[in-house]
Amino acid sequence: MVNTKALHKISYGLYIITSKKDTGFNGQIANTVFQISSEPATIAVSINKKNLTNEFIRASRIFAVSVLDREAPLSLVGHFGFKSGREVDKLAGVDYKLTQGGVPYIAENTLSYLEAKVVQEIDAVTHTIFIGELTDAEVIKEGVPMTYAYYQQVKKGGVPATAPTYAPKQEQNASGEDKYVCSVCGYVYDPAAGDPDNGIPPGTPFEALPADWTCPVCGAGKDSFEKES
Ligand code: FE
Repeated sequence: MVNTKALHKISYGLYIITSKKDTGFNGQIANTVFQISSEPATIAVSINKKNLTNEFIRASRIFAVSVLDREAPLSLVGHFGFKSGREVDKLAGVDYKLTQGGVPYIAENTLSYLEAKVVQEIDAVTHTIFIGELTDAEVIKEGVPMTYAYYQQVKKGGVPATAPTYAPKQEQNASGEDKYVCSVCGYVYDPAAGDPDNGIPPGTPFEALPADWTCPVCGAGKDSFEKES
């Protein structure tokens, strides 16, 4: 038997993967980044084939990883996780700098960045695993890196359907005020936690949120939320 809940015990970080193609840039959130070897230093990342970033990495053979600070706002994760580079220029309005190879990395809310040139790619059905050799890397500041668990449990963030770890919505036991779920991204508004990133103190019921309040992850309006059953 396969109990997919067993997969939920695997721990991950949370990263923004960026690449370039011709004169354009794109980036996306990924939790599947890991170091493979140290001599030479290589890393791997798994990227959904449907995503524009996959197309960019295949074209330019170079990518960068921004290691997110645990204090990074949900809106940054949402911006790179729930919008498509086919519709918006995701780097526009974001504070970024360029690696030696000319790939953008996120300058704010990032502890370190890694740039790698692709040395091998593995077809993994829905995803491509890119293996890259490090060509540029630097620590930007000290801090605690964001983990996938912290993002989900403490920051209450959702996951796009194209993520390798995506699982259709899990049940959650309600206590006290009703929780509301964003139908676009799966973010759960928990009244006990509020939305401190956007000035909503803990203990604020969903009904009491201002009319112009939007999902802190994907930006959807209040009318996109449904009461959690
Ligand atoms: Fe949302």
